[in-house]
Amino acid sequence: MNNRTETPVTIIGLGLMGQALAGAFLKAGHPTTVWNRTPSKADRLVAQGVRLAPTVGDALTADSLTIVCVTDYPALYELLGAEEAALHGTTLLNLTSGSSAQAREAARWAEQRGARYLDGAIMAVPPAIGTADAVILLSGPEPDFAAHESALGALGTVTHLGTDPGLASLYDVAGLAMMWSVLNAWLQGTAMLRTAGVDAATYAPFARQIAAVVADWLPGYAEQIDSGSFPAEVSALETDARAMEHLIEESEAVGVNAELPRLLKAMADRAIAAGHGKEQYPVLIGEFGKRRND
Ligand code: NAP
Repeated sequence: MNNRTETPVTIIGLGLMGQALAGAFLKAGHPTTVWNRTPSKADRLVAQGVRLAPTVGDALTADSLTIVCVTDYPALYELLGAEEAALHGTTLLNLTSGSSAQAREAARWAEQRGARYLDGAIMAVPPAIGTADAVILLSGPEPDFAAHESALGALGTVTHLGTDPGLASLYDVAGLAMMWSVLNAWLQGTAMLRTAGVDAATYAPFARQIAAVVADWLPGYAEQIDSGSFPAEVSALETDARAMEHLIEESEAVGVNAELPRLLKAMADRAIAAGHGKEQYPVLIGEFGKRRND
């Protein structure tokens, strides 16, 4: 039975993610309105007590917090572009994935139409929504976040990153960079070890331990980056570069792909050529912070 004192919410977009968001709000007792281009996707939720709005305009005016979660930004504009009057006075939380530039532009677009705008990135899959494992990052005006922080807690672990609406998207891709880098490093090692008959399951716990140890280095290395000073406390970049050469040679010798090790070595070599060989690994932030077109 719903507790009707909870904040009403509206979800526009009932794909896999939108359905999970609506379900979590309903479960937490929020009066929940939905709209989807294909209305039949609301059937299960309607049977559970969700209200299906007949039009986007009706959905927008119905509640105090409107979450949009559709495929991409063009879909968002297609949906909301014709709803200028209904947008006025609403609070939009856009959980559609996109770039930081798209988020900032959408914030301007919404504000010009009298709406409050928060942007968000969902770092979780639909089944995790409604649990603490669902990390949801938000950015935009702090008072608008504060007004809905309590309701948003129904979705998972929600963090406000700052007022720049592009921040959530930037954290989103930064997290993806971390995820793929860890996975690629593991795959590189797994490919090498498989040539010696070691299967992936045998190597996985060892790789996991190394990843955890390296993760512990991040706060100290972050201090070096933020201070712009990179004393070689445990290892100099030129020492790392020699080990990278070894990784390339070993990859080639056992017949696995050496592209990624060569890329790492090329970046380290450029930093060494620029005079940073005796400094510590995070000095490579200089290479990562530069645009390169090759
Ligand atoms: P999905 O299952 O493919 O659903 C897409 C939704 O967008 C549907 O509601 C669809 O309506 C709607 N839509 C697309 N184009 C439209 C248009 N032109 N006009 C109106 N509605 C339109 O995708 P999803 O998994 O729910 O993902 C939604 C967003 O969440 C994406 O930006 C995605 O990157 C993000 N996300 C997803 C996950 C995940 O694991 N699924 C995780 C993190 C973030 P119809 O039902 O009528 O087609």
